[in-house]
Amino acid sequence: MAIWLKRGAKADEKKAIDASVRETVERTLADIAARGDAAVRELSQKFDNWSPENFILSDKEKQACLDQLTAQDLKDIEFAQTQVRNFAQIQRDSMKDVEVETMPGVILGHKNIPMNAAGCYVPGGKYPLLASAHMSVITAKVAGVPRVISCAPPFQGKPAPAIVAAQVMAGADEIYVLGGIQAVGAMALGTQSIAPVDILVGPGNAFVAEAKRQLYGKVGIDLFAGPTETLVIADESVDGELCATDILGQAEHGPDSPAILLTTSEKLARETMAEIERLLLILPTAPHARRAWEDYGEVIVAESDEEMVRIADEIASEHVQVMTQDPDYFLDNMTNYGALFLGPRTNVSYGDKVIGTNHTLPTGKAARYTGGLWVGKFLKTCTYQKVTTDAASAMVGEYCSRLCSLEGFAGHGEQANIRVRRYGNRDVPY
Ligand code: NAD
Repeated sequence: MAIWLKRGAKADEKKAIDASVRETVERTLADIAARGDAAVRELSQKFDNWSPENFILSDKEKQACLDQLTAQDLKDIEFAQTQVRNFAQIQRDSMKDVEVETMPGVILGHKNIPMNAAGCYVPGGKYPLLASAHMSVITAKVAGVPRVISCAPPFQGKPAPAIVAAQVMAGADEIYVLGGIQAVGAMALGTQSIAPVDILVGPGNAFVAEAKRQLYGKVGIDLFAGPTETLVIADESVDGELCATDILGQAEHGPDSPAILLTTSEKLARETMAEIERLLLILPTAPHARRAWEDYGEVIVAESDEEMVRIADEIASEHVQVMTQDPDYFLDNMTNYGALFLGPRTNVSYGDKVIGTNHTLPTGKAARYTGGLWVGKFLKTCTYQKVTTDAASAMVGEYCSRLCSLEGFAGHGEQANIRVRRYGNRDVPY
């Protein structure tokens, strides 16, 4: 049986926090739906102290942001975007349209059709998370979405140059400097100045994630991608410094980001906890990371790899980093995770920033039913059918007619009967 060496002090308060976020989001979205641009402007002023003449960036404003970056900054963004685009293209190419003749004269198929407009949220409250621009805008473009718009909040009182550069280089068609509920609300519901989109994608804080959840149905959403979570699975093949670095590297996202160590070694667990305390004294982002670690951090000692798989599947963490003798055992056996990072040579930061997989990943146990953002989220797999011979129409019609009468659907039945009479020159025998 596994033992918990550390539990998150505030893990139980989460329900109350979630309820208050839900209520704020409900009220705010209703206001945006009722008053459009006027509400968006007031909310942006209230939450971000931001009320420019236009929220949409002009070409001149975009260029001014690009000009603030160095040539190396631009090259680095370009490198990351190339990796994300390449992998997204390979995934797109793997999604084939289908057309088959399932019975003589009966043709069934499906087509993968891109949505017409996508709204990509790029988070930027605590850090200017430019990587989210690659992850959503490029992926939507590779999927073939013709109109891709993107919103990010102002950072320290103005547009974040690195985010804007990433949005421009990723190919966003409209870029708005707008954050939080007002950004996703405006993109989904539409306002006098922003035409509504068909799907909302991208990560964000608890308010953004909850707003997307409440807007689902009016628009599509990619997934529930809220505050970052990380789970490090390790054994004595690695040391406490590496585990502590990888835990704090994700805990720094924010005070509500759970970071968990799951190990078969109590020695490694204690070493990691000591290393975390040491690193928290020197990490520049320690204020966020310390709160996340103290309030939501956990250390679990399990008896075996099998038990670690069971516990990890229950946690269903967004990121799972595996640093054990045999990381592929977890690839072969785990079923609930947003993304796996296998072996000590890779880590969550590679995936988050540059390696090419998508970093918009499920949180809050959503990994039980979805993977992360990818081209498939922007495509609708729509079926069609054709019946090409009289004999096939009459044959299917007979079955259909009898099945309709079992359901008591006379009108449906007649749609079949008329075809059996016309194309088969007979009545349906019951
Ligand atoms: P953000 O852009 O998500 O949120 C900032 C906005 O929140 C502000 O513009 C403001 O309008 C709004 N806001 C702040 N306080 C509010 C309040 N009290 N009421 C209403 N609105 C309020 O940026 P952030 O806050 O830095 O959060 C980014 C989040 O994204 C982090 O939690 C991070 O962990 C998460 N993230 C998740 C993934 C994923 O794939 N799941 C990936 C990257 C980042």
